Amino acid sequence: MGIGRIVAACCIAVLAVVEAGCQRPLKATRPQVPQVVVLGFDGVDPQLLSKWMSRGKLPHLAQLARSGMFEPLGTTNPPESPVAWASFATGLNPGGTGIFDFLTRDPQTYLPQLALAKSRKPEFLFNLVPIKGPQITNERHGTPFYKAVADAGYKAVVLRMPLEFPPTPLAGGKLWAGLGVPDIRATWGTFFYFSTDLEPWDAGDTEFGGRLVSLQMRGDTASASIDGPLDPTSKTFRRISVPVQFTVHPVQNSVTIHLGPDDETVGQGHWSGWFHVAFPITPFFAVHAIARFYIISAFPEVRVYMSPLNIDPASPALPISYPSDFSAELVENHGLFKTLGWWDDTWALNEEKIGEGVFLDDALRTMEKLSEITLDELSRDHPRLLVSIFTGTDSVSHMFYRLIDPKSPRYDPQLARQYGNAILETYQQMDRVVGEVEKAMESGGTLLVVSDHGFHSFRYGFNTNTWLVENGFMQLKNPAAAGKAYTLSDLFGQGSFFPNVDWRHTKAYALGLGQIYLNLRGRERDGIVSPGQEADQVMDAIRRKLLAYRDPRTGQPVLENVYLGRQIFHGAYLRKAPDLQLDFRPGYRTSWQTSLGAIPPGIIQPNRRKWSGDHCSSDPSDTPGIFLSNRVVLSSRPSLLDIAPSVLSLFHINPPGTLDGHALQFAPQDAVSH
Ligand SMILES: [Zn+2]
Repeated sequence: MGIGRIVAACCIAVLAVVEAGCQRPLKATRPQVPQVVVLGFDGVDPQLLSKWMSRGKLPHLAQLARSGMFEPLGTTNPPESPVAWASFATGLNPGGTGIFDFLTRDPQTYLPQLALAKSRKPEFLFNLVPIKGPQITNERHGTPFYKAVADAGYKAVVLRMPLEFPPTPLAGGKLWAGLGVPDIRATWGTFFYFSTDLEPWDAGDTEFGGRLVSLQMRGDTASASIDGPLDPTSKTFRRISVPVQFTVHPVQNSVTIHLGPDDETVGQGHWSGWFHVAFPITPFFAVHAIARFYIISAFPEVRVYMSPLNIDPASPALPISYPSDFSAELVENHGLFKTLGWWDDTWALNEEKIGEGVFLDDALRTMEKLSEITLDELSRDHPRLLVSIFTGTDSVSHMFYRLIDPKSPRYDPQLARQYGNAILETYQQMDRVVGEVEKAMESGGTLLVVSDHGFHSFRYGFNTNTWLVENGFMQLKNPAAAGKAYTLSDLFGQGSFFPNVDWRHTKAYALGLGQIYLNLRGRERDGIVSPGQEADQVMDAIRRKLLAYRDPRTGQPVLENVYLGRQIFHGAYLRKAPDLQLDFRPGYRTSWQTSLGAIPPGIIQPNRRKWSGDHCSSDPSDTPGIFLSNRVVLSSRPSLLDIAPSVLSLFHINPPGTLDGHALQFAPQDAVSH
């Protein structure tokens, strides 16, 4: 090459660098990529899917399986929604995302904490004017693939994404946060039940997420109050409440609800529209929620259900979308909608305050709303990447598994005739969504349909703390004292945990859905187990004894596996990992009370709750999710951790750091499928 040509080449190179530097991100320099759509359906099980596809019940999904690919999708350990979706988004194992369960604990207090987000109270000047908003930190670490795609200059729209509270800013894109967004009371969704026939001892908080309020009629009207958010200007645990009145019309069999400036008359067996509920924090400042009522009975007893107090998407008190006005834009286009992360009313059905039909209709309508928004976003903005996560498949499976499992303690043949198809109905709705999205996508695009884990029946609960006591790993101050039953509201800072545990003689404790922590010297406040050899011996003893444990009724093992945290997790957040991860055999799960840190009598208990299907403390080997694609995939045995690197490779983007998953190899678009 002559000198002149070298100089010319250098000049061109310099010009190219200057050009790229000046105009980045430059649309023209980005490779043109076909559209990528990822649809997530929480908790869809590959066995149920295969069965219903082969019976012709799911035509669009069956077509995808024939022309592209269908395989079980490897999941995380534990196969729990927050854990799995965190790994889906980032391509990292839980040691890298820092999400090991819904709950974590503070080793200095032994108190449980919500694992998904941390918050600090807002600050007020003279208890009147807000000067600093509440500070919330997303506890999910790692870089989500949709952020990397947006950073590379591609338009990304992400809907109802779990573990996005507060939401990740997406350059030029939009994000609506899903699982992890609390209600206005900062819980996972407290439902309200107002009734004239509650016994005095029933009023108050239920075991799981409900508030029961006694109504006294004065003439034809009863007054009550709705306890809303905690008062951030108060040093004590005080909730701000607003009054509500119910006027009964016996002849019309209806109730008029008076709340704030609005009222609505609703017939028995019907839902109201959305009510705006403003909770005054100071005379100048209120936080806004929305709620709906369902009239269970109008006369002679008044029984009214009220949905959790959702953050108002038109005027959100906390960040639930990016940009922050995206949720209000959705309201303009689609009307009001639920914003609560855990958005189906599972707790109310589990506490038997609403019936199967009310729950199922609402769950299906909620799926329909997200389907409408998803299709609209796809056609409105033509995003390069669209991600939308549906959770109705999961919540309906949790609540209706008993009706497809005759061995469930809550199997009911009559209800099974009526609602035995509930899970199938949500799968059929998923099938319709997939069919419509495929039609609305640009041709040549890639469609991925995934679920985060499968499902099992949950017939029996295992009281892990009781087992630890009976096997000498936990000691009680007063063994004769009956184990106190906890409620979900104890989790949210009102209760004292493990009040009867003698920490000076306790080696291990269980909290959450399948975790055991050592009472480790130097880490736990009253730790007695020395790190190193002693810790290893204690973990080994617990592990061996648990694996040898047999269900006294059947003589069969209960645990599938007990893993050492340090063996299955790796990464920057390993210090937050449980010391032992318990994975149960199908049919068993950590008991309700263990998940709240309680020590009830007996080790195995039949699960008499309507929440009868689960996956949270199952083994990943028998709880995979699903993976379908409209394209032939050359790689086998896909894993949830492969989705992030796969999407990045479709956009020709280098992964941000080392990921635990691997990019799947897609056959060229024109490949003939078999
Ligand atoms: Zn899930």
